[in-house]
Amino acid sequence: MIDLGGRFVMPGVFDFHLHVITGMTTRLRSFVIDAGDDFGTILARVRAAAAGKREGEWLTGSAYGARALADIQRAGLDAKRQLDEASGGRPTLLIHSSLHGAFANEAGLARAGIDAATPDPAGGRIVRIRGEATGLLEENAMWIVDAAIPMLRDSEMVDVARAAMRYFNSVGVTGFVDAQSTPEMIDAFRALDDAEELSTWAGFTLSASRTCSTWSPGSEALLARRKEVCGPHMIAENAKIFLDGVPSLKTAAMIEPYPGTDGYGEMYLSPEELFAEIAAFDKQGVGVKVHAVGDAAVVRVLDAVERVRDENGDGGPWHHIAHGQYIPHREFSRMKRLRIVADLSPPMWFVNHASLAHERVVGKERYATVWPIRSMLEAGVNMALGSDWMTIFPELNPWHALAGLLTRRDPTGQFEGIHGPHEAITLDQALPLMTRNGATAMGLGDRTGRLAPGLSADFIVLDRDLYEISAAEIAGAQVLKTIFEGHEVYSAPA
Ligand SMILES: [Zn+2]
Repeated sequence: MIDLGGRFVMPGVFDFHLHVITGMTTRLRSFVIDAGDDFGTILARVRAAAAGKREGEWLTGSAYGARALADIQRAGLDAKRQLDEASGGRPTLLIHSSLHGAFANEAGLARAGIDAATPDPAGGRIVRIRGEATGLLEENAMWIVDAAIPMLRDSEMVDVARAAMRYFNSVGVTGFVDAQSTPEMIDAFRALDDAEELSTWAGFTLSASRTCSTWSPGSEALLARRKEVCGPHMIAENAKIFLDGVPSLKTAAMIEPYPGTDGYGEMYLSPEELFAEIAAFDKQGVGVKVHAVGDAAVVRVLDAVERVRDENGDGGPWHHIAHGQYIPHREFSRMKRLRIVADLSPPMWFVNHASLAHERVVGKERYATVWPIRSMLEAGVNMALGSDWMTIFPELNPWHALAGLLTRRDPTGQFEGIHGPHEAITLDQALPLMTRNGATAMGLGDRTGRLAPGLSADFIVLDRDLYEISAAEIAGAQVLKTIFEGHEVYSAPA
């Protein structure tokens, strides 16, 4: 018995989409760039980070936004040289908040072997001026430099996994789904689970499709051994597929062209290829999480799953659509009938630097229709909340996401305006999206996600009663304690 003195208790947060190892590695190894920073401010951050590093050691920073990108583009080849100067000649890679672009200095390009003679990789672009690489790298070009940064050793990966788990517990998370998982990642969590250290439910989405940048023969082989490789708090019954890109680069696949262009975005699999991939996973009892952002991509996923249900039977696993911004209203009933979960991530339904950049690309009219969360709820579509940490926001903050669901306004008060106010929902509607629904969709609904007799005692104690306060005050909620399986795994410093 614990006397909480009347404090507010709720089930632990179940985060339905995040990137556990890349997110935590960035948090541990990189310096943080605020998405609103201009390039001058970033150079000052680089100087500060360089001060603590050995000569020749990599510097990585995450994540710059539209403002710094415009500065870098304006400066042309000088920007790269300024970054060399600030870093003291250390190889440096800065990541864009979309995770689909980056900026490297000359030392970083040299380590990756990129020079004027290097061709653009498939699906990527080395941005050049008069033939010389500027340091700006789009899509797959950024992974050439990223690959030159030394990988984590296995023992380090366990440390990163442990640090991530502690971080999650501190913000109230007791269950998560990693959205693109490798065998090494699963080994690291298995080591924690075997040592009885794991203090969160850990779901994994295997990189078993060739559309994943992290695909390897090992990832594919893992699928067959997925039950034996998991510890008691782990589940790896999903596979990731990438179908399209992102709106900010006009690569998300749309039914209507991007305003002012004749571009519709792109898809990486034909209808037949997508059907074949999903059907093969489904047959093995593996649910897919398909990255399908644009409305045309969403429709292609629904068509494929419909055919899969016809051929494999209706009893197959749940499938997920990540990130589900542009699910057309006319498709809600199909989503429900086909048991497809909308993975709502990242939290861009409220006004922030990324949503505004996104709105500039697709136009105000189209952005007003994104995240039709209330309409989907009323139509009975299954949904679960993900942070997509650490894309867009460096901190995993479920309370900002929650406040944004209730108001569709910036919970920090930095940005004015409102996105699609008619799609705001109530607290009673929102809480299951961040607790019960994710657990249920992962097949853990009879173990966690609710406060009920017989379930695992996974709950959090907050510093305020969410039902007694305004949405603005909800955004500032602090977790006082996190309990996992009845044990206190986090307690806020007094
Ligand atoms: Zn993601």
